[in-house]
Amino acid sequence: MNWNIIGHEWAVHYLRQSIACKREAHAYLITGPASVGKALLALRLAQTLNCEQGGDEPCLACRTCRRIERGNYPDVRIASMATQAAGLKPDEAARQKELKIGTIREWRGDITLKPYEGRRRVFILHDAERLNEEASNAMLKTLEEPPAFANLILIANSTDLLPTIVSRCQVIRLRPLPRRQVAAALSERVDISVEDAALLAAWSGGRIGWALRMAEDSEALQARQDQLAALLELHNQPLSVAFRWAEERAKEYRGGEQQMVFEWIELWQSWWRDVMLAAAGCLESIANIDRRADLERLARAYELERVYGFTRRLSEAMQQLRENVSPQLVLENLLVHMPARAR
Ligand SMILES: [Zn+2]
Repeated sequence: MNWNIIGHEWAVHYLRQSIACKREAHAYLITGPASVGKALLALRLAQTLNCEQGGDEPCLACRTCRRIERGNYPDVRIASMATQAAGLKPDEAARQKELKIGTIREWRGDITLKPYEGRRRVFILHDAERLNEEASNAMLKTLEEPPAFANLILIANSTDLLPTIVSRCQVIRLRPLPRRQVAAALSERVDISVEDAALLAAWSGGRIGWALRMAEDSEALQARQDQLAALLELHNQPLSVAFRWAEERAKEYRGGEQQMVFEWIELWQSWWRDVMLAAAGCLESIANIDRRADLERLARAYELERVYGFTRRLSEAMQQLRENVSPQLVLENLLVHMPARAR
């Protein structure tokens, strides 16, 4: 299959059908967790709409397909938080939290232009959940009257967008892939042992892009192990030491490494979620399959209600960070509420 996408077969099938019947939507909204394959699906759609071979799949070999893949084709325009921050000073870039109207305005000027080389002008907007109010309204106008030769593809980690935007798009919700599909894809594409493929697949939570990246980055793998060890150590340390950890993370956050801090919290959450799964006897669903014995031990040592309360707090902490609460405050608040051993 030339869409060359792992999983999401239904979405590819649906898009191929609509292109074959010339009924593709003017606007799509692709949603799903980070690294699940949204950007690749959007890219393949843009390639299919402009591939020199025509048809309902991209050949991936013609000059047009290759230029779109490299981000070097004038009729496929991509905007994101990263393109918005490009050219800014690092500290200014770090402060960017939303997609602003200027970014959308630039598009609006561009979208009325006929294709230079291809059949369709395709506009891909990443991070659409970060559109601020003004930018959302500008986007809405564009969605209301898109030119006949243009397709818009919005990509978002959630459907937390203006409902009027969502209702004007054909929504494609990508879900995490089954663990065995991720493991099989890793074994096929990367030089990796069966055990490591199974472990990464479990860790990935079905996010194939994340799994593939990690499989080729042994340093990142070690870093994840070290991160988990550091998080678990926090539970044994005096609060003053733990607060220093919070201070370091807060510094990273303010220095532009927001994603990194979210990863810490997600990792922490995956650990305590596993403890609850172990307590419930659902060992086949745990993510940290290499730490099964530890999880079972903790499941006996902690009160489940406390653990559940803490996983809720971790979700709330991520929400507070998105709402611009001070990162140090958010993290310290987590530390004082870490579940304590009951037995
Ligand atoms: Zn092609």
